[in-house]
Amino acid sequence: MSKGLTPILFEHVPWMDEAACQGHDTSIFFPTRGADTAPAKAICATCTVRKECLGFALHNQIRSGIWGGMSERERRVERRRLRLSLGLPYNYPLRRVDIGGKTA
Ligand code: SF4
Repeated sequence: MSKGLTPILFEHVPWMDEAACQGHDTSIFFPTRGADTAPAKAICATCTVRKECLGFALHNQIRSGIWGGMSERERRVERRRLRLSLGLPYNYPLRRVDIGGKTA
């Protein structure tokens, strides 16, 4: 069983070394449909790189799992909110600078 997010990614970025999910079972962060997301979110709430993690997921349009303390549904809402606040069209790909420039 994989531990933390790093083993499932094709790209390693420095903030991942600080991830609070390191050492935790990856399945917590990829719950099956309808499963409880609270255990993953509780770990994310203690994470010092939560903002970077969320920015990474938003920028890369990651469609599954809990990233930065948000589920995919919550990230979809957040992407929509960011696009609206920036005056970008719906479905316009968010760039790192749109999110805050600290995603990688
Ligand atoms: S915010 Fe959550 S998923 Fe992201 S690195 Fe931190 S603990 Fe892991």
